[in-house]
Amino acid sequence: MDGARDVIVGLGSNIGSREALLRAAVDLLAATPGVAVRARSDLYETAPVGPPQARYLNAAVRLRSALDPEALLDALLSIERTLGRERRVRWGARTLDLDVLWIDGVAHRSPTLTVPHAELARREFALRPLVALCPDARDPRDGAPLARALDAVERDPTLRARPFAEAFSRDDVEHTADEGFVTRAADRADLLAAATEAMGALVVDPASVVALRAVPVSIVLDADATDDERVFAWLSEVLYHLDAGRLALRRAVVLDDGEAVRGVLFGEHLDESRHAMRSALKAVTWHALEVGAQPDGSWRAQVVVDV
Ligand code: AMP
Repeated sequence: MDGARDVIVGLGSNIGSREALLRAAVDLLAATPGVAVRARSDLYETAPVGPPQARYLNAAVRLRSALDPEALLDALLSIERTLGRERRVRWGARTLDLDVLWIDGVAHRSPTLTVPHAELARREFALRPLVALCPDARDPRDGAPLARALDAVERDPTLRARPFAEAFSRDDVEHTADEGFVTRAADRADLLAAATEAMGALVVDPASVVALRAVPVSIVLDADATDDERVFAWLSEVLYHLDAGRLALRRAVVLDDGEAVRGVLFGEHLDESRHAMRSALKAVTWHALEVGAQPDGSWRAQVVVDV
């Protein structure tokens, strides 16, 4: 890439399947023409800024890109729209927030975009992953090392870091003639995304699939639906799209507001000549279904599917 520069993009989510959303955003960034993703930071869970709301999951990625700053912002806004950003209150809950935090050697100011990001020096959750990805990064305006800004920033004593994994954990379940899996995630919304991806991986190896199509899926549940009923109804609907819709799945993101579960399945039209096929699934079963919060606060689902 001629004229390419190092760029740090910050990612944040505090609603829905936060971990799955950040992972899908990185996929979409990697698929953006003129952008190469070079590295990802850890995931940082942080306290929200502004009105009372759920905790954020934040991360950053280092890109190599020759796009001008405004074109890069357009690409980020388009990814936010694809992943269903909801903006109810300023500083309020959001499915996904993408910020241009820093571009090597570039200071840019326009009505729509300020780089480095105007709040960068005040935000530990932005500076920490930035400095981890680019320890020598400097402020283009005065040459000051950003590692020094991190030393000076106010700390969130509740900040927790964990690795940015390629996929949710998944173990196969041996079960007579059927197929099954156990998967774990940090909360219930991410568990729905994790179970969706685990079921998709029973059909096709997701490593052989590209996120080209976005298929919206939604179901409505009784307000008093149990977690088992929620997972059963959701996965049954997803299976319909994998099977009748012939979707090879790469990623899934999920928004769960209690009564409705909505999500987007990312993948491509199933093509036996290109995709690494595994099993043909018939139906999600109640048999051996187990869903629930674990003593450590994480969520676990065990699911068996008829083949
Ligand atoms: P918010 O999501 O509330 O942070 O605001 C989004 C808007 O901030 C975008 O539509 C941009 O026009 C503007 N903006 C200004 N500077 C930046 C930046 N460095 N990265 C992303 N958005 C920015």
